[in-house]
Amino acid sequence: MGRVVSHVTYAGRPGGGGLEVDWCGMSHGVAVVSGASSGIGRATARRLAAEGYEVVVGARREDRLQSLAEEIAGRAIRLDVTDAGSVERFCAAVPECRVLVNAAGGAIGRDHVEAARDEDWQAMYDSNVMGSLRMTRTLLPALEATGDGHVVMIGSIAGYEPYIGGGGYNAAKFAVRAMTRVLRQELLGRPIRVSEIDPGLVETEFSLVRFRGDERQAAAVYEGLAPLTPEDVADCIAFVVTRPRHVNIDTIIVLARDQSGATTVHRR
Ligand code: NAP
Repeated sequence: MGRVVSHVTYAGRPGGGGLEVDWCGMSHGVAVVSGASSGIGRATARRLAAEGYEVVVGARREDRLQSLAEEIAGRAIRLDVTDAGSVERFCAAVPECRVLVNAAGGAIGRDHVEAARDEDWQAMYDSNVMGSLRMTRTLLPALEATGDGHVVMIGSIAGYEPYIGGGGYNAAKFAVRAMTRVLRQELLGRPIRVSEIDPGLVETEFSLVRFRGDERQAAAVYEGLAPLTPEDVADCIAFVVTRPRHVNIDTIIVLARDQSGATTVHRR
Protein backbone atom coordinates (compact mmCIF):
# COMPACT_ATOMS: atom_id res chain seq x y z
CA MET A 1 0.00 0.00 0.00
CA GLY A 2 1.21 3.49 -0.74
CA ARG A 3 1.67 5.88 2.15
CA VAL A 4 -1.41 7.97 2.99
CA VAL A 5 -0.28 11.53 3.46
CA SER A 6 -3.34 13.51 2.56
CA HIS A 7 -6.34 13.17 0.34
CA VAL A 8 -9.18 15.30 -0.94
CA THR A 9 -12.59 14.67 -2.38
CA TYR A 10 -12.87 15.42 -6.07
CA ALA A 11 -14.99 18.53 -6.26
CA GLY A 12 -15.90 18.51 -9.95
CA ARG A 13 -18.16 15.49 -9.79
CA PRO A 14 -21.81 16.24 -10.53
CA GLY A 15 -23.97 15.67 -7.51
CA GLY A 16 -21.18 16.07 -5.04
CA GLY A 17 -17.85 14.48 -4.37
CA GLY A 18 -17.14 10.90 -3.61
CA LEU A 19 -13.93 10.23 -5.44
CA GLU A 20 -10.83 10.37 -3.33
CA VAL A 21 -7.75 11.58 -5.11
CA ASP A 22 -4.36 11.68 -3.55
CA TRP A 23 -1.90 14.47 -2.98
CA CYS A 24 1.10 12.29 -2.39
CA GLY A 25 1.14 8.61 -2.81
CA MET A 26 -2.12 7.13 -1.54
CA SER A 27 -2.74 3.74 -3.12
CA HIS A 28 -5.39 3.75 -5.84
CA GLY A 29 -5.89 0.01 -5.40
CA VAL A 30 -4.67 -2.97 -7.38
CA ALA A 31 -3.91 -2.74 -11.09
CA VAL A 32 -3.35 -5.92 -13.09
CA VAL A 33 -1.28 -5.57 -16.25
CA SER A 34 -1.03 -8.48 -18.68
CA GLY A 35 1.83 -8.55 -21.18
CA ALA A 36 4.02 -6.71 -18.70
CA SER A 37 7.32 -8.41 -19.56
CA SER A 38 7.90 -6.02 -22.45
CA GLY A 39 6.84 -2.91 -24.33
CA ILE A 40 3.54 -1.21 -23.57
CA GLY A 41 2.62 -3.52 -20.70
CA ARG A 42 5.96 -3.02 -18.93
CA ALA A 43 5.84 0.77 -19.35
CA THR A 44 2.25 0.76 -18.09
CA ALA A 45 3.17 -1.28 -15.01
CA ARG A 46 5.93 1.18 -14.18
CA ARG A 47 3.68 4.18 -14.76
CA LEU A 48 0.75 2.84 -12.73
CA ALA A 49 3.10 2.00 -9.87
CA ALA A 50 4.39 5.57 -10.01
CA GLU A 51 0.77 6.79 -9.94
CA GLY A 52 0.21 4.91 -6.69
CA TYR A 53 -1.32 1.60 -7.76
CA GLU A 54 -0.31 -1.75 -6.36
CA VAL A 55 0.61 -3.47 -9.59
CA VAL A 56 0.33 -7.17 -10.38
CA VAL A 57 2.19 -8.08 -13.55
CA GLY A 58 1.62 -11.13 -15.76
CA ALA A 59 3.30 -12.66 -18.82
CA ARG A 60 5.09 -15.87 -19.76
CA ARG A 61 8.72 -14.73 -19.24
CA GLU A 62 9.00 -14.97 -15.48
CA ASP A 63 12.58 -13.71 -15.11
CA ARG A 64 11.63 -10.37 -16.67
CA LEU A 65 8.46 -10.16 -14.63
CA GLN A 66 10.32 -10.84 -11.42
CA SER A 67 12.85 -8.06 -11.93
CA LEU A 68 10.08 -5.65 -12.93
CA ALA A 69 8.07 -6.53 -9.83
CA GLU A 70 11.12 -5.88 -7.65
CA GLU A 71 11.70 -2.54 -9.36
CA ILE A 72 8.13 -1.31 -8.84
CA ALA A 73 7.42 -3.10 -5.55
CA GLY A 74 4.68 -5.07 -7.26
CA ARG A 75 3.78 -8.75 -7.66
CA ALA A 76 4.81 -11.02 -10.52
CA ILE A 77 2.68 -14.02 -11.47
CA ARG A 78 3.26 -16.17 -14.53
CA LEU A 79 0.46 -15.83 -17.04
CA ASP A 80 -0.30 -17.31 -20.44
CA VAL A 81 -3.54 -15.71 -21.59
CA THR A 82 -4.04 -18.40 -24.23
CA ASP A 83 -4.26 -21.05 -21.50
CA ALA A 84 -7.55 -21.03 -19.56
CA GLY A 85 -5.93 -22.81 -16.60
CA SER A 86 -3.13 -20.25 -16.40
CA VAL A 87 -5.67 -17.40 -16.41
CA GLU A 88 -7.66 -19.12 -13.65
CA ARG A 89 -4.56 -19.55 -11.46
CA PHE A 90 -3.42 -15.99 -12.07
CA CYS A 91 -6.80 -14.46 -11.26
CA ALA A 92 -7.29 -16.66 -8.18
CA ALA A 93 -4.12 -15.06 -6.80
CA VAL A 94 -5.58 -11.56 -7.34
CA PRO A 95 -8.65 -11.29 -5.11
CA GLU A 96 -8.72 -7.50 -5.36
CA CYS A 97 -8.50 -5.63 -8.63
CA ARG A 98 -9.55 -2.10 -9.52
CA VAL A 99 -7.88 -1.74 -12.91
CA LEU A 100 -7.20 -4.38 -15.55
CA VAL A 101 -4.98 -3.51 -18.51
CA ASN A 102 -5.13 -6.15 -21.24
CA ALA A 103 -1.80 -5.54 -22.98
CA ALA A 104 -0.84 -9.14 -23.77
CA GLY A 105 -0.95 -9.77 -27.50
CA GLY A 106 0.67 -8.84 -30.76
CA ALA A 107 1.01 -9.86 -34.39
CA ILE A 108 2.58 -12.83 -36.12
CA GLY A 109 3.57 -12.56 -39.78
CA ARG A 110 2.67 -10.23 -42.66
CA ASP A 111 1.47 -12.90 -45.06
CA HIS A 112 -1.21 -12.23 -47.63
CA VAL A 113 -4.51 -13.98 -47.00
CA GLU A 114 -3.86 -16.46 -49.80
CA ALA A 115 -0.69 -17.57 -47.99
CA ALA A 116 -2.08 -17.33 -44.45
CA ARG A 117 -0.98 -19.96 -41.98
CA ASP A 118 -3.74 -21.27 -39.74
CA GLU A 119 -1.47 -21.40 -36.71
CA ASP A 120 -0.52 -17.71 -36.99
CA TRP A 121 -4.12 -16.54 -37.24
CA GLN A 122 -5.13 -18.84 -34.42
CA ALA A 123 -2.30 -17.57 -32.21
CA MET A 124 -3.22 -13.92 -32.85
CA TYR A 125 -6.87 -14.58 -32.08
CA ASP A 126 -5.99 -16.60 -28.98
CA SER A 127 -3.75 -13.98 -27.39
CA ASN A 128 -5.41 -10.71 -28.44
CA VAL A 129 -9.07 -11.72 -28.35
CA MET A 130 -9.53 -14.85 -26.25
CA GLY A 131 -6.82 -13.71 -23.83
CA SER A 132 -8.52 -10.35 -23.24
CA LEU A 133 -11.89 -12.08 -22.94
CA ARG A 134 -10.66 -14.61 -20.36
CA MET A 135 -8.85 -12.02 -18.23
CA THR A 136 -11.78 -9.60 -18.31
CA ARG A 137 -14.48 -12.20 -17.64
CA THR A 138 -12.57 -13.72 -14.75
CA LEU A 139 -11.68 -10.44 -13.06
CA LEU A 140 -15.05 -8.69 -13.57
CA PRO A 141 -16.44 -9.68 -10.13
CA ALA A 142 -13.34 -8.30 -8.39
CA LEU A 143 -13.41 -5.16 -10.52
CA GLU A 144 -17.08 -4.58 -9.76
CA ALA A 145 -16.59 -5.19 -6.05
CA THR A 146 -14.32 -2.14 -5.81
CA GLY A 147 -17.22 0.10 -6.80
CA ASP A 148 -15.07 1.67 -9.52
CA GLY A 149 -13.54 -1.02 -11.71
CA HIS A 150 -11.82 -0.18 -14.97
CA VAL A 151 -11.01 -2.41 -17.94
CA VAL A 152 -8.48 -1.04 -20.42
CA MET A 153 -8.10 -2.90 -23.70
CA ILE A 154 -5.09 -2.35 -25.93
CA GLY A 155 -6.42 -2.34 -29.46
CA SER A 156 -4.64 -0.86 -32.45
CA ILE A 157 -5.03 1.36 -35.48
CA ALA A 158 -5.11 -2.09 -37.14
CA GLY A 159 -8.56 -2.46 -35.59
CA TYR A 160 -9.83 0.36 -37.83
CA GLU A 161 -7.82 0.16 -41.05
CA PRO A 162 -7.19 -3.09 -42.92
CA TYR A 163 -3.87 -3.22 -44.75
CA ILE A 164 -2.10 -5.59 -47.10
CA GLY A 165 -0.50 -8.40 -45.13
CA GLY A 166 -2.41 -7.38 -42.01
CA GLY A 167 -5.32 -9.82 -42.37
CA GLY A 168 -4.87 -11.95 -39.27
CA TYR A 169 -3.85 -9.06 -37.03
CA ASN A 170 -6.58 -6.79 -38.46
CA ALA A 171 -9.15 -9.50 -37.81
CA ALA A 172 -7.96 -9.91 -34.22
CA LYS A 173 -7.89 -6.18 -33.43
CA PHE A 174 -11.25 -5.57 -35.13
CA ALA A 175 -12.55 -8.31 -32.85
CA VAL A 176 -10.99 -6.70 -29.78
CA ARG A 177 -12.74 -3.45 -30.68
CA ALA A 178 -16.08 -5.20 -31.22
CA MET A 179 -15.79 -7.00 -27.90
CA THR A 180 -14.88 -3.78 -26.12
CA ARG A 181 -17.88 -1.90 -27.56
CA VAL A 182 -20.17 -4.76 -26.56
CA LEU A 183 -18.73 -4.89 -23.05
CA ARG A 184 -19.22 -1.16 -22.59
CA GLN A 185 -22.91 -1.53 -23.46
CA GLU A 186 -23.44 -4.64 -21.38
CA LEU A 187 -21.88 -3.07 -18.28
CA LEU A 188 -23.86 0.16 -18.52
CA GLY A 189 -25.32 0.95 -15.10
CA ARG A 190 -22.67 -1.02 -13.21
CA PRO A 191 -19.58 0.53 -11.61
CA ILE A 192 -17.06 -0.59 -14.22
CA ARG A 193 -15.48 1.65 -16.82
CA VAL A 194 -14.34 0.29 -20.18
CA SER A 195 -11.71 2.05 -22.25
CA GLU A 196 -9.77 1.18 -25.37
CA ILE A 197 -6.38 2.57 -26.31
CA ASP A 198 -5.56 2.17 -30.00
CA PRO A 199 -1.95 2.99 -30.84
CA GLY A 200 -0.17 3.19 -34.15
CA LEU A 201 3.53 2.37 -34.44
CA VAL A 202 5.14 1.93 -31.04
CA GLU A 203 8.77 0.83 -30.85
CA THR A 204 8.66 -2.32 -28.72
CA GLU A 205 9.39 -6.00 -29.36
CA PHE A 206 6.15 -6.10 -31.38
CA SER A 207 7.87 -6.13 -34.80
CA LEU A 208 10.57 -8.55 -33.65
CA VAL A 209 7.81 -10.98 -32.68
CA ARG A 210 5.84 -10.26 -35.85
CA PHE A 211 8.87 -10.99 -38.07
CA ARG A 212 9.78 -14.09 -36.06
CA GLY A 213 13.01 -12.68 -34.62
CA ASP A 214 14.31 -11.02 -37.82
CA GLU A 215 15.98 -7.90 -36.37
CA ARG A 216 16.61 -6.26 -39.75
CA GLN A 217 12.97 -6.49 -40.80
CA ALA A 218 11.83 -5.32 -37.38
CA ALA A 219 14.15 -2.29 -37.37
CA ALA A 220 12.98 -1.30 -40.88
CA VAL A 221 9.47 -0.69 -39.53
CA TYR A 222 10.69 2.30 -37.50
CA GLU A 223 13.46 3.52 -39.83
CA GLY A 224 13.50 7.24 -40.59
CA LEU A 225 10.51 8.13 -38.42
CA ALA A 226 9.91 8.92 -34.78
CA PRO A 227 7.50 6.22 -33.53
CA LEU A 228 5.60 6.32 -30.27
CA THR A 229 7.42 5.00 -27.23
CA PRO A 230 5.75 2.53 -24.87
CA GLU A 231 5.81 5.34 -22.30
CA ASP A 232 3.64 7.49 -24.61
CA VAL A 233 0.98 4.78 -24.57
CA ALA A 234 1.36 4.26 -20.82
CA ASP A 235 0.72 7.99 -20.48
CA CYS A 236 -2.65 7.58 -22.25
CA ILE A 237 -3.54 4.64 -20.00
CA ALA A 238 -2.58 6.58 -16.88
CA PHE A 239 -4.78 9.43 -18.10
CA VAL A 240 -7.88 7.30 -18.61
CA VAL A 241 -7.61 5.45 -15.30
CA THR A 242 -7.01 8.57 -13.24
CA ARG A 243 -10.12 10.47 -14.42
CA PRO A 244 -12.93 10.92 -11.90
CA ARG A 245 -15.07 7.81 -11.66
CA HIS A 246 -18.02 9.32 -13.53
CA VAL A 247 -15.81 9.88 -16.60
CA ASN A 248 -15.36 7.05 -19.10
CA ILE A 249 -12.81 7.77 -21.82
CA ASP A 250 -14.18 5.33 -24.40
CA THR A 251 -11.41 5.36 -26.98
CA ILE A 252 -8.07 6.97 -27.62
CA ILE A 253 -6.44 6.55 -31.02
CA VAL A 254 -2.83 7.62 -30.59
CA LEU A 255 -0.39 7.85 -33.48
CA ALA A 256 3.07 9.30 -33.89
CA ARG A 257 3.15 12.64 -35.66
CA ASP A 258 4.97 10.78 -38.45
CA GLN A 259 2.02 8.42 -38.95
CA SER A 260 -1.40 9.40 -40.30
CA GLY A 261 -2.88 5.95 -40.95
CA ALA A 262 -2.17 2.26 -40.51
CA THR A 263 0.42 2.25 -43.30
CA THR A 264 0.78 5.96 -44.07
CA VAL A 265 4.02 7.20 -42.56
CA HIS A 266 6.53 9.95 -43.14
CA ARG A 267 10.16 8.82 -43.26
CA ARG A 268 13.10 11.17 -43.43
P1 NAP B 1 5.75 -6.53 -27.06
O1 NAP B 1 6.87 -5.68 -26.64
O2 NAP B 1 6.03 -7.70 -27.95
O3 NAP B 1 4.95 -7.02 -25.77
C1 NAP B 1 3.95 -8.00 -25.86
C2 NAP B 1 3.67 -8.51 -24.47
O4 NAP B 1 2.60 -9.45 -24.54
C3 NAP B 1 4.86 -9.22 -23.85
O5 NAP B 1 4.96 -8.86 -22.50
C4 NAP B 1 4.50 -10.68 -23.97
O6 NAP B 1 5.07 -11.41 -22.87
C5 NAP B 1 2.98 -10.61 -23.81
N1 NAP B 1 2.31 -11.78 -24.33
C6 NAP B 1 2.26 -12.22 -25.59
N2 NAP B 1 1.57 -13.35 -25.65
C7 NAP B 1 1.18 -13.64 -24.38
C8 NAP B 1 0.46 -14.69 -23.78
N3 NAP B 1 0.01 -15.73 -24.50
N4 NAP B 1 0.24 -14.66 -22.46
C9 NAP B 1 0.70 -13.63 -21.71
N5 NAP B 1 1.41 -12.62 -22.21
C10 NAP B 1 1.64 -12.62 -23.55
O7 NAP B 1 4.66 -5.68 -27.87
P2 NAP B 1 3.81 -4.38 -27.45
O8 NAP B 1 3.94 -3.43 -28.57
O9 NAP B 1 4.13 -3.92 -26.10
O10 NAP B 1 2.34 -5.00 -27.50
C11 NAP B 1 1.41 -4.83 -26.45
C12 NAP B 1 0.02 -4.70 -27.06
O11 NAP B 1 -0.03 -3.51 -27.85
C13 NAP B 1 -0.39 -5.84 -28.00
O12 NAP B 1 -1.75 -6.11 -27.81
C14 NAP B 1 -0.18 -5.24 -29.37
O13 NAP B 1 -0.99 -5.86 -30.34
C15 NAP B 1 -0.58 -3.81 -29.10
N6 NAP B 1 -0.12 -2.82 -30.06
C16 NAP B 1 1.20 -2.67 -30.33
C17 NAP B 1 1.59 -1.72 -31.27
C18 NAP B 1 3.04 -1.50 -31.64
O14 NAP B 1 3.30 -0.89 -32.68
N7 NAP B 1 3.98 -1.94 -30.83
C19 NAP B 1 0.63 -0.92 -31.92
C20 NAP B 1 -0.71 -1.11 -31.60
C21 NAP B 1 -1.08 -2.04 -30.67
P3 NAP B 1 5.64 -12.89 -22.88
O15 NAP B 1 6.17 -13.14 -24.27
O16 NAP B 1 6.69 -12.86 -21.83
O17 NAP B 1 4.47 -13.74 -22.53
